[in-house]
Amino acid sequence: MSNQQPVDQNTSAREQMWREHAALIDWKNPFTSVLEYGDGARLPPPFARWFVGGTTNLCHNAVDRHLKDRADQPALIWESTEVDVTRTYTYAELHREVVRFAAGMRSLGVRRGDRVLIYLPMIPEAVFAMLACARIGAIHSVVFGGFASMSLAKRIDDAQPRLIVSADAGSRTGKALEYKPLLDAAIELATAKPEHVLLIDRGLAPMTRVAGRDVDWAPLREQHLNADVPVEWLESNEISYILYTSGTTGKPKGVQRDVGGYAVALAASMKHIFYGEAGKTYFSSSDIGWVVGHSYIVYGPLIAGMTTILYEGTPLRPDAGIFWQLVEKHRVKVMFSSPTAIRALKRHDQALLKKYDLSSLRALFLAGEPLDEPTARWISEGLGCPVIDNYWQTETGWPILATPDSPGNASPHYGSAGLPVFGYDVRLVDENTGVEKGINEKGVVTIQPPLPPGCLQTIWGDDKRFVQTYFETIPGQLTYSTFDFGVKDKDGYWFILGRMDDVINVAGHRLGTREIEESICSHAAIAECAVVGVQDALKGQVAVGFAVLKDPTLAVDMAARMALEGEVMSLVHQQLGAIARPARVHFIAALPKTRSGKVLRRSIQAVCESRDPGDLTTIDDASPLDQVKQAHLGA
Ligand code: AMP
Repeated sequence: MSNQQPVDQNTSAREQMWREHAALIDWKNPFTSVLEYGDGARLPPPFARWFVGGTTNLCHNAVDRHLKDRADQPALIWESTEVDVTRTYTYAELHREVVRFAAGMRSLGVRRGDRVLIYLPMIPEAVFAMLACARIGAIHSVVFGGFASMSLAKRIDDAQPRLIVSADAGSRTGKALEYKPLLDAAIELATAKPEHVLLIDRGLAPMTRVAGRDVDWAPLREQHLNADVPVEWLESNEISYILYTSGTTGKPKGVQRDVGGYAVALAASMKHIFYGEAGKTYFSSSDIGWVVGHSYIVYGPLIAGMTTILYEGTPLRPDAGIFWQLVEKHRVKVMFSSPTAIRALKRHDQALLKKYDLSSLRALFLAGEPLDEPTARWISEGLGCPVIDNYWQTETGWPILATPDSPGNASPHYGSAGLPVFGYDVRLVDENTGVEKGINEKGVVTIQPPLPPGCLQTIWGDDKRFVQTYFETIPGQLTYSTFDFGVKDKDGYWFILGRMDDVINVAGHRLGTREIEESICSHAAIAECAVVGVQDALKGQVAVGFAVLKDPTLAVDMAARMALEGEVMSLVHQQLGAIARPARVHFIAALPKTRSGKVLRRSIQAVCESRDPGDLTTIDDASPLDQVKQAHLGA
C-alpha cells in the first residue's frame, strides 16, 4: 500500500492538514489532488471532490488491513440482551464472514454501483452486509428497523435496490418484532422491485418466502464458506452509501457519501476526537440504521483497529446498569450514547453506576439532540469520566462541534455542544440578511463550503435539491445551512438552540413532521392536520398532531375522540413505524393559519409549550390557537 502523495506547490494549510489525515488510511493508488473545488473543478461549487484520483476501499481499511497485526483480536462483539447471546468475531473471522457475504451477494447478481437495501435488526449480519457492500463497491442503504412499510417503500423507490437484505424479526424487550411482513408490504407498495431478498432466519418468527425472489442466507453461506472475493478498488469519490434522513417534505433525502473522504474523516475523528486506539474497545449504543451507527459502530472503530460492540437491547434491561456491566465486562475505553438514553437511566438509582468497575472508560460521548445540563452533570459525576457533547447531522457524517476534553478543566461547559471541529468553517449568521452574528447573538449555524471530507456529496439522484435545500437559504451567499439555531459565548463555545425548520427530534431520532402529517391525513375521517414537536422531559421532543375532521360530529364526546385518536395513531404506527407514532392527536375545528393559508406550526408549538406564540399579526383567526391550547393543555 502506498501512503506517498505527490507534493503540490499550492497546497493550502487546509489541504496540507487533510493530506496528513489521509495518511491514516491505506490507498491502493495515491490521489492526484487533495481537493477539487471552485475554478477548474469538474462541478461548480458547492460540489467538492476530495482526494481525487486516489483509489481505496472502506472494507479494506476496516478489516483486511488489520489482518497483518491483529487477526486474532476481537473486531466485533455482538451482545444481545434480547436473545441472551454474546458472540465474538476476531478480525480474521470478521474478514471470513464479510467475504462469504460478498460472495453470496455477488451470486445474486449484485455488482459495483448496485444498491443494496439493508433492513435488519442489530445482528452481526448487518455489519457483514454493510462491509460486504463496501468490499464489492455496491452502495448500501441501511433503513432503521423501526420504520414500517410506507417509509420503507419510499426508500425502495428512491434507491431502487437490486437486493434487499432482511430478517424474520428483531426483538424488543424480549418480544419478537416481525420484519418480513413489513418488508413484503413495502415491496408491494413500491414501484421499484428488488430482484432478490436475502433473509436471515433468526428463528424468531415464521416467514413466508416468495419463490424466485427470496433466498435464505444460511444455505447460501454454506455454498460460499471458502469463497475469495477480492476488494474492489474505488476512486475516492465513488459512492459508498446512501442514508435516508427526514427533511421538511414528505420525501426523505438520500444522503450520499463518498469512499475516500469518509474513510479519512472517520480515521481523523477517531484519532483526534474519540480517543481511538487500536486494540481497545469501543461501545456505541446507537443503531446501524442511523448515521452514528454507520460512522461509530461500524466504520470508525474498525478503521481505527478497535473492538466494536454491537448491542441489541435497551438501556434498561435486565436493569438500568446494563451499559456499565458491558463496560466492565469488555473493558470499554470509549462509549457513545444519546442524551435520551442517559435521561432514561437517570430515573434509576445512581448506585447502578457505582456497582461496576468503570476504570477503563476514558470518555462518554453524547450526541443527536441537546444535552441538558442536569443530565450532563449527573452522568459525568456518576461515571467519574468526561462526558463529551458533540453536535452533527446525518449529512455531515462526523462531528461539527465537540467539546475538547481538557484534563484539569474545572468547569466543563455543560449545555454547550462545544467548539468547531477541525476542517469545519462554522459561522453563525442572520437567517434574513446573512450577516455574521456576534457573541451571545442567536443565528443560524452554517458551514462555509467546501464541506470537509466525510460530509454528504449530494442528495442521491437530486443534485438540484442538494444545492437548493442546503446552500440557497441564506441570502446573498452560497453557504451550507444546518437549519439549527445556535449561539456562541465569549469563550467561543457554541450552544445549539433547536431546529428552524419542521424537523423534530424524538429521542435523538430525526423525524419530518410533514411525513407524519401525510400519514394522519390518509385517514378517511381527517380533512387536514398539523404536527409539531413539543418538549418532553425524557425524549427531548414528542410529536403532537392537531387534526380537523371532515365531519366534526364524529368527535362529539370523549369516548368517540379517544377511539378516533387511537385509530389515527395506529395508522401512523402501521405506515411509518413506532418511532413516528405521535404522543397525542387532538381534534380541533380549524388549524391556526395566516391569511395566506400557511399553517402556523411554530405558534402551535409555542402554545403547547406554554410559551408566547410570537407575532400573530398575519393570523387569519385567533380562535384555533385557543383550541390548540384548550386541547393540549386543557386550559
Ligand atoms: P440527525 O441527522 O438525525 O443526526 O439529526 C441532526 C440534528 O440533531 C441536528 O440538526 C440537531 O438539530 C440535532 N442534534 C444533533 N446533535 C446535537 C447536539 N449535540 N446538541 C443539540 N442538537 C443536536
